[in-house]
Amino acid sequence: MAGIYLHIPFCRQACHYCNFHFSTSLRQKNDFIAALLREMETRKDYIAAEPVETIYFGGGTPSLLTEEELEMILDRLHALYPIAQGAEITLEANPDDMAEPGRPAAWRRRGINRLSIGIQSFFDEDLRWMNRVHSARQAADSIRNAQEAGLDNISIDLIYGTPGLSDLRWEKNVGQALLLGIPHLSCYALTVEPRTALDTMIRQHKKEDVHPDDQARQFLLLMDLLAAAGYEHYEISNFALPGRRSRHNTSYWQGKPYLGLGPSAHSYDGISSRQWNIANNAVYIQSSIPPSEKEMLTPTQQLNEYIMISLRTMEGADLDHVAQRFGEEASRTLQRGAEQYIREGKMVMDGRRLILTREGKLLADGIAADLFN
Ligand code: SF4
Repeated sequence: MAGIYLHIPFCRQACHYCNFHFSTSLRQKNDFIAALLREMETRKDYIAAEPVETIYFGGGTPSLLTEEELEMILDRLHALYPIAQGAEITLEANPDDMAEPGRPAAWRRRGINRLSIGIQSFFDEDLRWMNRVHSARQAADSIRNAQEAGLDNISIDLIYGTPGLSDLRWEKNVGQALLLGIPHLSCYALTVEPRTALDTMIRQHKKEDVHPDDQARQFLLLMDLLAAAGYEHYEISNFALPGRRSRHNTSYWQGKPYLGLGPSAHSYDGISSRQWNIANNAVYIQSSIPPSEKEMLTPTQQLNEYIMISLRTMEGADLDHVAQRFGEEASRTLQRGAEQYIREGKMVMDGRRLILTREGKLLADGIAADLFN
């Protein structure tokens, strides 16, 4: 089983914290679509033998595509790739693109069966702070519009740990998502990425820096609220009602192959090679084959990647899997390294699986790095 990711590299406005690849000029959108269709053709053998179980339109802002553009892309995908019956097809959408009630219905008619909506907050003061283009009102309306159109397989993104976000307002944000009946939430602590507008503003003392203690407290609050509401905390940043996990993202975490199309998109062959397209719209558009870089992962890198990714999931790291894929010694080393964290209550051993506890999840990446081979 494989997945396809399509990167749509345009946004209406730059959010201050964002370090994804995008352009706020839509001038090249038509040329980009032509180049994307071309890349679909040239790279169709990357996952040739595998039925495609998931398609994910990410960005950028895929909801900037017109319905005709979306249809053209989906038609070409179906013509070139073995798309499985019942494939999950997700579109990332921003609330300001969903103001017209007809849009979610039109997406649904064209085959989109899951939305990932960039809500970030249900409060205008947070949205202004992030320089999001939409309002709190549009955030709530976008969800209702989608649900009324029968597109109720919805995930929303929320951001916590922004300076000035009180625990009470964070709780209200999560509460609003629950009230609206959202089956899947992706919640991220605000990170200050280098060379973003936010990074510059913090360094110029125009914006307050983030406070790790506030972020940790709000993460714990989030886990408590969603556990009480019946959500599975199936990956460190992702929560779903039973049966509503993202199949696309789950396949990343399970190490399945995926093809990334569009500028900056990453691909993985499911074994040992990873490649990524150039993050430049003009060069992407002009090239008959988009320039890309490729990395071959050594067995040690593959093991470390497995530790990093699996520890972030609810199922944890499987010592038997490590033994089978990387050798008995690698499995024993991992188990020995984990003993200290088990003693400290940051990890538990469930059968042959190492799973982070609530306290361990606060330190997930640090613990994983410490356990690297
Ligand atoms: S809409 Fe998304 S991709 Fe675009 S700037 Fe904002 S966070 Fe980044």
